[in-house]
Amino acid sequence: MIRLNEHYAKLQASYLFVEIARRVADHAATNPARPLIKLGIGDVTRPLPPSVITAFHEGVEEQGNAANFRGYGPEQGYDFLREAIAKADFAARGCPISANDIFVSDGAKCDTGNFQELFAPDTRVAVPDPVYPVYVDTNVMAGRTGAAVDGRYEGLTYMEGTEANGFVPSPKDLGSQGAEVVYLCFPNNPTGATATKEQLAEWVDWANAQGSLILFDAAYEAFVTNPELPKSIYEIPGADRCAVEFRSFSKTAGFTGTRCAYTVVPSAIEIDGIKLRDMWNRRHSTKFNGVSYPVQKAAAAVYSPEGQKETGDLIAYYLENARIIRAAMEKVGYSCWGGENSPYVWVKTGESSWDTFDTLLKKADVVITPGSGFGRMGEGFIRISAFNDKERVEEAVERIITALS
Ligand SMILES: *Cc1c(COP(=O)(O)O)cnc(C)c1O
Repeated sequence: MIRLNEHYAKLQASYLFVEIARRVADHAATNPARPLIKLGIGDVTRPLPPSVITAFHEGVEEQGNAANFRGYGPEQGYDFLREAIAKADFAARGCPISANDIFVSDGAKCDTGNFQELFAPDTRVAVPDPVYPVYVDTNVMAGRTGAAVDGRYEGLTYMEGTEANGFVPSPKDLGSQGAEVVYLCFPNNPTGATATKEQLAEWVDWANAQGSLILFDAAYEAFVTNPELPKSIYEIPGADRCAVEFRSFSKTAGFTGTRCAYTVVPSAIEIDGIKLRDMWNRRHSTKFNGVSYPVQKAAAAVYSPEGQKETGDLIAYYLENARIIRAAMEKVGYSCWGGENSPYVWVKTGESSWDTFDTLLKKADVVITPGSGFGRMGEGFIRISAFNDKERVEEAVERIITALS
């Protein structure tokens, strides 16, 4: 008799976006007054930049032509893209990362979710709280946790993000149990918090001393405009011996619907005498057959001078929205995090996250995300996303100020 993976039964249903959709639908059915403005979901709204579209079209044309048609590409990604990434994202910032350490994929969600396959079942894992749920759920599916009790899985270590640590946990937040694998995400989703070089150095030194591994999610690095802040963990000396980094073109260049990302597994990381890079290469080339050629061409165009200019403008557009949102929430009198070097504004409302959600939905016809959906430490906070048109954002903040004042 077939038996199912029993660990899936431990998963808590993701009530968050289902519940948001239900409340929004109820509201829309009973209050057909103003159009809703959605500042909830973390998806971009601006179209792909012109230089990216041109390269994308060229790639499609090449595929329709016998002379330069391409079948399966290299599983690790085309050299032209990996070389462009290594040069612009790492060499230019002094990071010791080569094209050989870069694995092109169809998303950082899959990569952050899949990477844990390389570790033993009883590996001790730590995640931040609030958290991007993918880190948690994929470890639950793999059987690395016990049951959920009060919203937290037994056997998983939660590093608490608080006002006191500015939502940047340090190795001290691991407690006595420690961890062998730690997930970090900066700029953070959902809090918008960024980590300084000193804060990341504390993690890198800890990991190298312990023989632990950091899984660093840098999906929002493009939003870092403060030159003092690191975009990559490899800007920290020694990180190439203890950290894997996940990057994505989704938020950087508007690729959420186009799909391209990459993971960096430095050749210097060895565990039990085995190069982690070689193990990921084995896993990636066994289970993945590469990102489509036109998409990789489109991604490479991000690194052209025009592509850099255009994606820079995209980021600046969203950052201006974030600034407007944060200024408005501070005007209402709330403490805020993020919204600088990040597309998310994390707002302390001091009441239940869902109560604030309902108030803003009913009185302002604005949709945000309740912080409690990202973990226990998110209760009392909301996340407001800058991914929308500027006009809509301006209208939303006016409505919010009126509703809350
Ligand atoms: C959006 C996002 C990603 C990127 O996911 P893709 O699959 O590349 O679109 C990764 N991590 C976090 C925290 C995100 O918010």
